[in-house]
Amino acid sequence: MPQPPTLKVAEIFSSIQGEGLRQGEPTLFVRFSGCNLECSFCDTKYAWKKGKDYSTFQIIDKIKKQRRRFPAEWVCLTGGEPLLQDLADLVQKLKEERFKIQVETNATIFCSLPVDWYSISPKPEKYLFRPEYKKAAKEVKLVVTKALNLDTVQRLRQEFPEKTPIFLQPQSTRKWSLDKGMKLLKQAQQAGIKNTRLSAQLHKIYGLR
Ligand code: SF4
Repeated sequence: MPQPPTLKVAEIFSSIQGEGLRQGEPTLFVRFSGCNLECSFCDTKYAWKKGKDYSTFQIIDKIKKQRRRFPAEWVCLTGGEPLLQDLADLVQKLKEERFKIQVETNATIFCSLPVDWYSISPKPEKYLFRPEYKKAAKEVKLVVTKALNLDTVQRLRQEFPEKTPIFLQPQSTRKWSLDKGMKLLKQAQQAGIKNTRLSAQLHKIYGLR
């Protein structure tokens, strides 16, 4: 039986990082349960509620077992919204195991954790984010929804250092979303908005988790 304090986890699995600058890298994922937003386009709605209690020890044990059959340098802490839970102890233990650590967050919560990579994805309608991410984020991913427009891309570009890429990530492989991503990229180019890139979710193309 897990001893408290425990973390609510939806799933632990190995796959390829499908998004952002780390796209294509073998990665072990811990998907935490619960989210403070309820995006209509969410593709992990099952993680909003579903979940099992795990102690840090149990998570590390599972991750190490996965690493034996799927060698990966990186662990990605994702959700749901992973920062709703206190990840300090888990992050410390993952570092002791010499993993590189990525956190994927909707950016409404900031926790100063000794991780290697904060990947943020502010969400519509307001695309809010905690100011600490202006420095801490390695990348900003914007899901290309019907609500996303050039003004928002421009505003976010101005808020983050130019070296931090902004990814336009189609919401799905449906034509309107792919077309809109391309259209926004072209508009951003013409408006002189720098370091803005078109993206796709590699794991969906390959049929991975
Ligand atoms: S923030 Fe992410 S996990 Fe939460 S509801 Fe929105 S898309 Fe889903």
